Amino acid sequence: MALNLSFVDIVVVGAGIAGLSCARALADGGARVRVLDRGRVVGGRLASRRVNGRYADIGAAYLVADEPGFVAQTESWQARGLARPWTDTLRVYPGGTDSRGPVRWAAPGGLRSLATDLADGLDVRLSTPVDSVDSVVQGADAVVLAVPGPQALRLSPPPAIASAAASQTWRPVIAAVLTYPERTWARLHGAFVNDHPVLATVCDDGDRRGDAAPVLVAHSTAELAAEHLDAPAEAGPVLAAAVGELLGITASPQVETHRWTYAQPEKTSEAPYARDGQVWLCGDAFGRPRVQTAWLSGRAVAAALLAG
Ligand SMILES: Cc1cc2nc3c(=O)[nH]c(=O)nc-3n(C[C@H](O)[C@H](O)[C@H](O)COP(=O)(O)OP(=O)(O)OC[C@H]3O[C@@H](n4cnc5c(N)ncnc54)[C@H](O)[C@@H]3O)c2cc1C
Repeated sequence: MALNLSFVDIVVVGAGIAGLSCARALADGGARVRVLDRGRVVGGRLASRRVNGRYADIGAAYLVADEPGFVAQTESWQARGLARPWTDTLRVYPGGTDSRGPVRWAAPGGLRSLATDLADGLDVRLSTPVDSVDSVVQGADAVVLAVPGPQALRLSPPPAIASAAASQTWRPVIAAVLTYPERTWARLHGAFVNDHPVLATVCDDGDRRGDAAPVLVAHSTAELAAEHLDAPAEAGPVLAAAVGELLGITASPQVETHRWTYAQPEKTSEAPYARDGQVWLCGDAFGRPRVQTAWLSGRAVAAALLAG
C-alpha cells in the first residue's frame, strides 16, 4: 500500500544543492517539507556574488554532468536558458597547455540561479540557523542534514551521523573576484594551476557567464586559505599578484574575497548518505566532491524516505 505522504513532515537543514534536490524530490513525491538555511540566499557553495552590478561565481566554478538523472536536470536548465555548455578545454600550469576533458556547464545568471530554480515553490526559510538536531526533530518525521560534516557535528547529531560526519576531512579555499579595467589577457576559459604556493585555479568569469566582463575568479590553495581564514581580505592582493604573474596582466584589479572554511571534502564516503533513525546526512562528501554528487546524495535520501 502506498504511504500517505501528505502527512509526512520533513525538515531539511541546508539549502545548498543537496538540500534543495532532496526537498524538491520529496515535495514532488507528495511529502510536506521545510528547508531551513542560516544564509540570506539559497545555494550554499553554489554561490554567485554581486560585484559592480553583475554576478560572479565565487564557489563552484562549473558543473559536470555525467549521471543520467543529473544530465536530465542540466538539460532542463539548458532548455529554460538557465545553464549552458561552457567549455571542454581548460589550461594546465605549469606549462600552459590546453587540456580537453568533459564539458563544463556554466550559468548565464550565475550558478546560484540554478539553486534558486530548484527552490522555486518550496517552503524555504532563510536566515534561520539551526543550533541542534533536537530543536527541529520534534514534530518532524525525519530531519535531513544537508550540510558539510563539521557543520553537522555542531548540531549534536545522533551517533551514526556524528561518526560519519567526524570521518570527513575538509580543505578551505579563499576565492578572489578580480575586476580589471579591461580584458588584456590572451583567450582563456579557465586554468588549473598545479604546484603553486598560493593559486589553485583561475577562471574567466566573463567568458564563463558569456558577458565578456573583464573579471577573473581565482581560488587559493588550501595552504594560503588556512593562513588567512581569520582575515581573508589579506589573501586578495596575494592572489591578484599570482594571477597577474601567471597571465601577464599588468593592470591592478579591484579585489573582493570570500572565505570557504569547508570548501572541499578530502576524505569521502562511497555510500550515498548516512542515517541514524530519523536523522539523515547528505552532501558532496558522499562521492566525488562536486555539484553532481551533492544533487545525487540529496535525491538518494529523498528516494529512501519516499520508499518508506
Ligand atoms: C571554491 C569552490 C570551488 C568549487 N568548484 C567546483 C566545481 O568547479 N565543480 C563542482 O562540481 N563543484 C565544485 N565545488 C563543490 C560544490 O560547490 C559543492 O560540491 C556543492 O555546492 C555542495 O553542495 P551541498 O548542498 O552539499 O553543500 P553546501 O553548498 O555547503 O550547502 C550547505 C548549506 O547548509 C547551510 N547550513 C550550514 N549549517 C547550517 C545550520 N546550522 N543551520 C542552517 N543552515 C546551515 C549553509 O548555509 C549552506 O547553504 C566547489 C566548491 C568550492 C567552495
